Amino acid sequence: MRKQIIIGNWKMNGSLLSIKSLCESLNKLSTESLSADMAVCVPNVYLSYVSDNIKGVALGVQNVSQYDDGAYTGEISVSMLKDFNCQYAIVGHSERRALFGESNIDVALKAKKATEAGLCAIVCVGETLEERTSGKLEEVLKTQLSTVLNELTLNQLRNVIIAYEPVWAIGTGLAATASQVQEVHAYLRSIVTNFHVELAKNIKIIYGGSLKPSNADEILKLADVDGGLIGGASLCGKDFGEIVKHAKAVKNAKHVK
Ligand code: PEP
Repeated sequence: MRKQIIIGNWKMNGSLLSIKSLCESLNKLSTESLSADMAVCVPNVYLSYVSDNIKGVALGVQNVSQYDDGAYTGEISVSMLKDFNCQYAIVGHSERRALFGESNIDVALKAKKATEAGLCAIVCVGETLEERTSGKLEEVLKTQLSTVLNELTLNQLRNVIIAYEPVWAIGTGLAATASQVQEVHAYLRSIVTNFHVELAKNIKIIYGGSLKPSNADEILKLADVDGGLIGGASLCGKDFGEIVKHAKAVKNAKHVK
């Protein structure tokens, strides 16, 4: 039984004031929602504040350096993150791939560095609309995922969550349909099964791309969906809370079967 996890990606949004009120909403939620794991990936400058002011919600970041330390201006290392009780690091978000030129191997090396240090790496994979419509969906996803599978040890892979995020669904309001999501998640799990059967049974594959309270139930209850990575809706405590409640209900429903 894989436990559902709902992870917020705040991106480069918020201010000290808005983050204070978001932390207050999340703190209320955390006492009510113990059967779904929750994490928020915050802008680095707010790590210390969120770490000191949040309870029952794990802390994460949106990127991490593939290097240990040294002359890498602007980068943040895993050991710095651990100083702030950070447990999760998103790697390979499509915005980092598209806007900051991160390659599949960069993403794999970041995932390796994070998991080596005991952080959970949330590895994002996903196709553009052009790749999907031109029949390259499977090839693109296989290359993105295989680079990570081949670079990490089995123990490191046990600390990886795969996030399927179709690029065309991120921030557009246009989520993938339930059948598109299940089809891709089953495909991703089959790639992991070919690599290692036990890993495939346990690895979480979460969905991201315009997930919101209105479509969370339908998507989270799919057989191969183990949670969600939430952008826009994670900035509103009420919406994030409703998605967490759906995850909790789905968990109970899947458990009963
Ligand atoms: C994301 O950026 O990871 C994301 C899923 O964004 P949104 O929920 O806004 O589509």
